[in-house]
Amino acid sequence: MKRIVVLGAGESGAGAAVLARKEGFDVFVSDMSKIKDRYKKLLDDHQIAWEEGLHTEDLILNADEIIKSPGIPDNVPIIKNIQEKKIPIISEIEFAGRYTHAKMICITGSNGKTTTTSLIYHILKHAGYNVGLAGNIGRSLALQVAEENHDYYVIELSSFQLDNMYDFKADIAVLMNITPDHLDRYDFKMQNYVDSKMRIIQNQTPDDAFVFWNDDPIVTEELKKYNIKAKLCPFSEFKSDSSIGYTNEDEYVIEGPVPFNMEQEELALRGKHNLYNSLAAGITADLAGVSKELIREGLKTFEGVEHRLEKAGRVRGVEFVNDSKATNVNACWYALDSMRTPVVLILGGKDKGNDYSEIFDLVREKCIGLVFLGVDNSKLHAAFDNFGIPIADVKSMKDCVDECYKMAKPGSTVLLSPCCASFDLFKNMEDRGDQFKECVKNL
Ligand code: ADP
Repeated sequence: MKRIVVLGAGESGAGAAVLARKEGFDVFVSDMSKIKDRYKKLLDDHQIAWEEGLHTEDLILNADEIIKSPGIPDNVPIIKNIQEKKIPIISEIEFAGRYTHAKMICITGSNGKTTTTSLIYHILKHAGYNVGLAGNIGRSLALQVAEENHDYYVIELSSFQLDNMYDFKADIAVLMNITPDHLDRYDFKMQNYVDSKMRIIQNQTPDDAFVFWNDDPIVTEELKKYNIKAKLCPFSEFKSDSSIGYTNEDEYVIEGPVPFNMEQEELALRGKHNLYNSLAAGITADLAGVSKELIREGLKTFEGVEHRLEKAGRVRGVEFVNDSKATNVNACWYALDSMRTPVVLILGGKDKGNDYSEIFDLVREKCIGLVFLGVDNSKLHAAFDNFGIPIADVKSMKDCVDECYKMAKPGSTVLLSPCCASFDLFKNMEDRGDQFKECVKNL
């Protein structure tokens, strides 16, 4: 019997273990951290052996294949040992893809993945498709393949997941954009990160489609290196000869396969970045055969995703917006760009090597106050102190919201779009966003 070892027993690992077991493999799960109770129960229910708090080499290095959680970097000792022994390492998505004939719609990019994935899922679901949501969001693809029988999967793929994918193929691949992110996991070489994102098109055939943002300088440059067989479906902000999705004055236009258009005003999501997300989703749904009436309805009725430009309340004329998910500078750029009022901007957290100059012009143009929420705000001070904008330093969300409220004027917006990861003061970006919303409620 072939032995599969799963490293990391989170949503993807636990699901992969269940699928592997169902497919008749000898399965072992090992996690360096504590495994959540619900995953322990899932493993126990399927009589799958597991360990937590350590990696026992004797139980791991005898595997025929390893399924690695995307959260485990390549430079940890156990991965190095596995690589030395030349045991193949794959991702949960690669593994699950072997056991389903469902159509795979896969979305990647530096920003906009979750929004676009959720929007595509919403449109397909609204249109009555038998569809599952998987990848970085929703339930593990492997578990759904093991226990359900969907015709379509809409899958959000991070670069870490793509790294361990080899034979998997997306029927529709969507690439939103590529801007610097996670470079610490890519030897600080941008090209390594770019190569990882481009794996979204690997193995595609002329029967498949590739939807991508045609205005992205990195993507368009990169595409020159590839001999792409899939049908190309570029979209851009404005009409161009090569794009099949774009805006034309106040209209949102998709040229095909079935052409349709609608007023931009009718789109549920606001902001330029969300226009791109809506274009990608509209083209994808069109390719998947959803009727134009149902695509329009889906684009109109989508409720947005928590922590992404989410309205957090209005207090005495001041709007509060939670964009806690903006953990890099580019995401904050789009958040600021979408603001139509003066802004008090909350920045700070764990900096991943940020270059703040990208938002200098928008900060000058729109911000009436800056509040730095982090353990170490020195880099933010170096970047913004000479702007002549009032600045405050805070170390808790309560102080942060109080300070913002003092700086804000009726008619302005307090925007949490911090450019940074949250781990210095919060459990994660959800915790940061939840605390923000709670503090706004208590104002
Ligand atoms: P991801 O899953 O790739 O992190 P999300 O949809 O969760 O993307 O959005 C993350 C952040 O990026 C949010 O702050 C959002 O406002 C911003 N954003 C969303 N879509 C885009 C886009 N197409 N281009 C740039 N920024 C975006």
